[in-house]
Amino acid sequence: MPGVTLRYFCYGCLISSATWSVLLYLYFLLGAEPSRSPVQHRPISRAVPDRGAELSSEMGMIFNQADQEVRDTGYHRHAFNVLISNRLGHRRPLPDTRDPQCRQKSYPPALPAASVVICFFNEAFSALLRTIHSVLDRTPTHLLHEIILVDDHSELEELQADLDQYIKDELQGKVKLIRNQQREGLIRGRMVGASHATGDVLVFLDSHCEVNEAWLQPLLAPIQRDRRTVVCPVIDIISADTLAYSPSPIVRGGFNWGLHFKWDPVPPAALSGPEGPTAPIRSPTMAGGLFAMDRSYFEELGRYDGGMDIWGGENLEISFRIWMCGGQLLIVPCSRVGHIFRKRRPYGSPGGQDTMAHNSLRLAHVWMDDYKEQYLALRPELRDRGYGDISERVALRKRLQCHSFRWYLDTVYPEMQAVAGGNKQQPVFNNKSLRRPKVLQRGLLRNLVTGRCLVAQGRVSQKGGAVVVRPCDPRDPEQNWAYDEDGQLVLAGLLCLDVSEVRTSERPRLMKCHGSGGSQQWSLGQKSNRLYQVSVGQCLAASHSSGPKGYVTMAICDGSQDQQWLLES
Ligand code: UDP
Ligand code: MN
Repeated sequence: MPGVTLRYFCYGCLISSATWSVLLYLYFLLGAEPSRSPVQHRPISRAVPDRGAELSSEMGMIFNQADQEVRDTGYHRHAFNVLISNRLGHRRPLPDTRDPQCRQKSYPPALPAASVVICFFNEAFSALLRTIHSVLDRTPTHLLHEIILVDDHSELEELQADLDQYIKDELQGKVKLIRNQQREGLIRGRMVGASHATGDVLVFLDSHCEVNEAWLQPLLAPIQRDRRTVVCPVIDIISADTLAYSPSPIVRGGFNWGLHFKWDPVPPAALSGPEGPTAPIRSPTMAGGLFAMDRSYFEELGRYDGGMDIWGGENLEISFRIWMCGGQLLIVPCSRVGHIFRKRRPYGSPGGQDTMAHNSLRLAHVWMDDYKEQYLALRPELRDRGYGDISERVALRKRLQCHSFRWYLDTVYPEMQAVAGGNKQQPVFNNKSLRRPKVLQRGLLRNLVTGRCLVAQGRVSQKGGAVVVRPCDPRDPEQNWAYDEDGQLVLAGLLCLDVSEVRTSERPRLMKCHGSGGSQQWSLGQKSNRLYQVSVGQCLAASHSSGPKGYVTMAICDGSQDQQWLLES
């Protein structure tokens, strides 16, 4: 895989808002990260990791070895916090993240009914069940024709007999489970699901989503008006570390010449019409995981490219195809669905191939005409790589009498060419939604048992440097911590206190602040005086036994004095 990247992706992160704006500007200008690409694509937002969701930040607290194991195996297998996922159970309330005007909107009582297709491979049982229950609980019965689960030949024991039993006992009627006899990947897997569906509209969801209030009606209405309209909800963020649910900004889909999906700012004109912030937005591409489409139109338009394997590229392929062959793709701000955004994908392809490259080659050769050269120029090593037989897809394009890729760029995504031609006129990003977290407290961080203060072991600006306890000096600016509303602990205005999410045994260190919670999110107990690390589920500890060097460690929270810290101004 070229680097680590997911379909959606987050850049939290800032030291100063100026740096932040520059980063974002560059991000949009250059089209940073791959999507349906090797790691995570979530819309860029300074959305607060843990607020906006009434979730206790201590939900991931580790009490014993069994908890530790659930957490660690969970991260390893699923790349998110399964301990919290299990504790949340199969249902939970969510904050309504829609614009208030969405609540006033009315939809025709008679809308087409949906078949919700959820394809999964080795999903965590609790996350899969929350996906299913959220759909059952938040969809009017008459609009939900069925839920079709496609198990893509998962290996995990919990997804075998237990799942059959659960469906039989608890989900009778609306939920069907189909099991692939071999691993097909999400692309063919979804086609299997679609071929079993009998509802009017297909809705595809990932297996770690939670749909929000009245999510389906705003998706179905535009499809009812025009069956060639394909719609995406706004993909809200479920933190992989805390499972907290927070809103995403309204952005639209684009891509770069590496054929990676990216989020782009919405042209202001798109939001200034009579429908204001509730108006569906034309989007050049979709992120891929979540969308709704008329079922017969899905068939007519050639479903997916069955020659694409496992993961990647299919989202751009279907996006180009929709626009080039007479349809349109919209993002619907009044429909909100949360998705767990992970920092890595926890699975590979069976043969270890780079399926993103294989799929992108097929996409380029079928749909991009001479513009495929832009991709190949960036990936010269792929020029001689085989990509299988594409004749059926080429024939499909001809049969549907689709426009040229040039037409697509001119008509649907002119911003792309502006950059390609060296003309750097990108839409100016409106950074009003960016915020710097408010500092709640400043001062020395004194450990009660040692009476010493937490400081950098070496230079205070050294990224990756360890922290230790040393004699306190209130006049030393390099001992000054700021604790902010995002739970960040920033030393001397420079770096953030950070832990390894995977190896809990590693010592805490100072890292560049990334602003997306998780490894840099601490909760400072006002009464207990403990410093609880949200993604690790443990507390910061120092003691005399930590030796003359004064090292600190993460440990199971036990309320002892060596885990007590005071932030003294
Ligand atoms: N998936 C699948 N088979 C695979 C790979 C993925 O069924 O070989 C499922 C996966 O369980 C998830 C969806 O496809 O429900 C999208 O995958 P993932 O969430 O890993 O992609 P991302 O959201 O990171 O782009
Ligand atoms: Mn996903």
